Amino acid sequence: MTQLDDLYKEIILDHYRRPRNKGALPVPPAHRGHGLNPLCGDEVTVDVLVEDGRVTDVAFEGRGCAISQASASMMCELVKGRAVEDVAAEFDRFRSMLGVDDAATATGTAYEAGAEPGRQLGDAEALQGVKDFPSRIKCATLSWNTLTGAIAGEAEFSETDT
Ligand code: ZN
Repeated sequence: MTQLDDLYKEIILDHYRRPRNKGALPVPPAHRGHGLNPLCGDEVTVDVLVEDGRVTDVAFEGRGCAISQASASMMCELVKGRAVEDVAAEFDRFRSMLGVDDAATATGTAYEAGAEPGRQLGDAEALQGVKDFPSRIKCATLSWNTLTGAIAGEAEFSETDT
């Protein structure tokens, strides 16, 4: 393992053990999305408050593997306070980092491998090693897909749908 791999592993475990923005928001006004990844048994509930086109608050609850729960925690940190269209661009960049979905190339949000760690996706960059484990990619994208659905007013998301 390289030093960077060790650092990434530490960051993932830290978010898993001490999740950021864990909890629930009053619904309404927040929107709630519930997501399942039956492939791994992961589950997340994401509450998101959107005001004036901006994510002013976000919280999650969940259970499942370290990748799924750490990813939800990292996502909440990253999207809080951001405009809804920026959140969509961050998700494109995140998928691009994991080697899935080329939408990012078209929208100019592709992840730049080798950039200074933390510059592009914050702690979520620690999940980039997941791209080498295709069966785990849906663990990492579950919370993002659930958030995207919740913002759009869709209450249920399942990774088998994609
Ligand atoms: Zn998982």
